[in-house]
Amino acid sequence: MSNEEAVEQIRARIKEMEVERRGKPNAMRYRSGLPAWGTFVSGPGPGETKTGSDTTFGFPLPCLWYSVRGEVKTTPQSVTLTNEHIVGGLVIAGEPSARVRNFHALPMLPIWPRLLGNIVFWSLVWWLVPTVLIAWRRQRRSRRGLCQGCGYDLAGIAVGEDERTVCPECGAAWRLDKEPGSQSPALAETRSVP
Ligand SMILES: [Zn+2]
Repeated sequence: MSNEEAVEQIRARIKEMEVERRGKPNAMRYRSGLPAWGTFVSGPGPGETKTGSDTTFGFPLPCLWYSVRGEVKTTPQSVTLTNEHIVGGLVIAGEPSARVRNFHALPMLPIWPRLLGNIVFWSLVWWLVPTVLIAWRRQRRSRRGLCQGCGYDLAGIAVGEDERTVCPECGAAWRLDKEPGSQSPALAETRSVP
């Protein structure tokens, strides 16, 4: 069998596997054509054959990858992949394989634009979570007539000339504007003091 015939045979098998994995979202995906990242971006050079698989990890953008390479052994009866080994990854358990995922490895090759995208995304999440929590706590304290900074009860404390109440506990000044239906009658009373 010539190399071209072997490639044709592999292509036909990939098509079959595409049909087999339909309706199985966790099954490995196969694609033809050059991907945007990985070992096969540039395709094989003259006289060179690249065989293997690239796997990428990361959330929300898959951004780190490793490659499992192998050599195609063609006999009249079969096409097999031998000498499979990992490139750009650290095997933790199992035997690397370009065809099945029954091993675990740490990916070590970055896809920079995606990695930067993930850094921006997770930075925003880490910034947003405490910001929202702090804002929520402040609003809750404010509604109860407490100091937004330290939670000290500001009931009965006189409002200053600038309409701010200075917390005697931490020294922060707050404008305690209450909407109608406030849960803090004590504070409403304080505000009525001239
Ligand atoms: Zn305070």
